[in-house]
Amino acid sequence: QKLFIYAEDLLKSIRQPIAVNGETIRTSASIGVCYFPSHGRVAGDLIARSEHAMNQAKKIGKDIYTIFDESIENSSILKAEMIQAFNKGLDQNEFEMFFQPRYDIKTGAMLGSEALLRWNKGGKFMAPDTFLDVAEESGMIVNICNHAFDLAFKQYEQLFNGNPPIMLAINVSAKQLSHPDFLNDLFSMMEEHHFPSEMLEVELTEQTLIENYESSLATLNALSSAGVKVALDDFGTGYSSLSYLKNFPVNVLKIDKSFIKDIHQDKSDLELAKAIIAMGKSLNMEVVAEGVENNKQLNILANEGCHQAQGYLLNKPLPFGKFHDLFNETTSSADASA
Ligand code: C2E
Ligand code: CA
Ligand code: CA
Repeated sequence: QKLFIYAEDLLKSIRQPIAVNGETIRTSASIGVCYFPSHGRVAGDLIARSEHAMNQAKKIGKDIYTIFDESIENSSILKAEMIQAFNKGLDQNEFEMFFQPRYDIKTGAMLGSEALLRWNKGGKFMAPDTFLDVAEESGMIVNICNHAFDLAFKQYEQLFNGNPPIMLAINVSAKQLSHPDFLNDLFSMMEEHHFPSEMLEVELTEQTLIENYESSLATLNALSSAGVKVALDDFGTGYSSLSYLKNFPVNVLKIDKSFIKDIHQDKSDLELAKAIIAMGKSLNMEVVAEGVENNKQLNILANEGCHQAQGYLLNKPLPFGKFHDLFNETTSSADASA
């Protein structure tokens, strides 16, 4: 009890404004508390654990004190282990891209694919949802995705090999987009693998744009003037603000799969999808439906004039070899019909 009062008092006195040369300076502190002997018997352990608690206090919002909690320590140990595993995964080329084809709804033509990250752990592929949060938080996402993007460009180079090019969509997270080397890295990868920038589409969520409005705007304008397309992913889920559509150079709207799922049996999902399609069209944007799983959904989308579709009905995300075979089939059948 006494300790808490002491910590409060300390915070209070540190919070007092200080006058320096007629200006007022305010400071604050974050305090981490742990107990002897329950949290450690030697100075090193006690210091490490109070530091842990202090970092927690900083995370929660600073200017507070936090008492050491073992569950916090466990979660950060888990993170440290994940980071080691990421590094090992990078060293041993465990990260791969899968490619999910995207189709023109009217003609049925394959227009390109979305590259989706997979972590190959001894032949078992882990989906990105299981590790992307930690990768994003730790900043490792930049290394992992750069590695994966490079791989995707390299694989597309093999694919093109004299054939007419198709588009490639990549997902970019907030940490990546705000990284100072993002544009440089991306352009040098494209150059190295002779990838035509007009064939690249960058998928971002509205959340990512909000997180760094000014710098996102500058980055997207640079991409756009190089001919790269910008797609708003998961459209309709986040904090949708129509001002994004006006202020950012957006070429493509991807209707989130949560609206597509029940489009054939839920009137409000249908109305929302219709509204997004109509809006995209009137703003001269390509509208893509993701998560198309059955023919009923596809027929409705076709009737409403949605341009493109992607989903398990048409194809799952494929490892490069399979995607390459599919591409060869479609280009040779196009040759045959020509
Ligand atoms: P997303 O961009 O919304 O990607 C679509 C997700 O829907 C993919 O999940 C895809 O496999 C899945 N999907 C495709 N068709 C269907 C369908 O018909 N039904 C259903 N229910 N799902 C379908 P995945 O591959 O697990 O990726 C999850 C998320 O991870 C992606 O969501 C994207 O936000 C992120 N992600 C994937 N690859 C990368 C990457 O290289 N970099 C970054 N930063 N994020 C990535
Ligand atoms: Ca996406
Ligand atoms: Ca999506």
